[in-house]
Amino acid sequence: MLQDNTALNNALGKIKHKILVFSGKGGVGKSSIAANLGVYLALQGHKVGILDIDFHGPSIPKILGMENSQIKGTEDGLLLPVQKTPSLSVLSVGFMLGEQDMPIIWRGPKKIGAIREFIEHVEWGTLDYLVIDSPPGTGDEPLTIAQFCGKETNAIVVTTPQEVALSDVRKSLSFCNELQLNLLGVVENMSYFVCPHCNEKTEIFGRGKIDEMIKTFKTEILGRIPIEPSVAALSDDGEPFILKGGKTPAAEAMEKMFEKIESKLENKN
Ligand code: ADP
Repeated sequence: MLQDNTALNNALGKIKHKILVFSGKGGVGKSSIAANLGVYLALQGHKVGILDIDFHGPSIPKILGMENSQIKGTEDGLLLPVQKTPSLSVLSVGFMLGEQDMPIIWRGPKKIGAIREFIEHVEWGTLDYLVIDSPPGTGDEPLTIAQFCGKETNAIVVTTPQEVALSDVRKSLSFCNELQLNLLGVVENMSYFVCPHCNEKTEIFGRGKIDEMIKTFKTEILGRIPIEPSVAALSDDGEPFILKGGKTPAAEAMEKMFEKIESKLENKN
């Protein structure tokens, strides 16, 4: 029997832009980019939601300093996302774990059902943007979002320059092609290091074949973000880097990239 998608589609209809942030590999900075993109968009005056569906390693609560937050319900049985600010709502599987270190041991169908719940039965209200932080790879989670949102899925692929990360990017880009998602482009994170003393730029992971690959897939690099210790340090302290990072090369590169993403989507309609 076909599942009735009316409630799901009604909920999705109230969200103007859905942005799926994903990567082929873990540890490339996907959650950092998703969290900071959400904060940036909210700062520009948009109503934003961040949905963290990384069931096995939800890191949005830590990055945004919301580790002790818990989900509450409404009288009519809906879940309420946690408000980081009045214009930034956050829902993470991390909010639902009793103990922070308890792993979620779920198979595909349970995760698919949970993602549906997170959209259908959560009081997101009307949103300009929903930024979805998906686990690495092209498994059930990004696939479910892609199937729910269809061609309205705006995808961002995050990678680092190394060859090993790049072979996974190819898979992520093929995934976008195959599912006909609206691929916004690729973020090359940890792209280079700028010496704080002499400003010399070093490509510590070398220069991969990303430029060739993006041509093949007819997409573009949204931004190259340098590796900078304060990105990790501020995330560990739960302070959004885009708010607290100051005018560093990484902060400037991130801001420029987020501006580009925003203008791509704002100019679409
Ligand atoms: P993923 O979601 O891909 O697993 P995370 O966003 O959790 O990756 O980032 C992995 C680690 O790398 C975190 O400690 C994060 O703070 C750090 N990190 C991400 N981007 C940068 C960067 N540009 N410079 C320095 N550290 C970074």
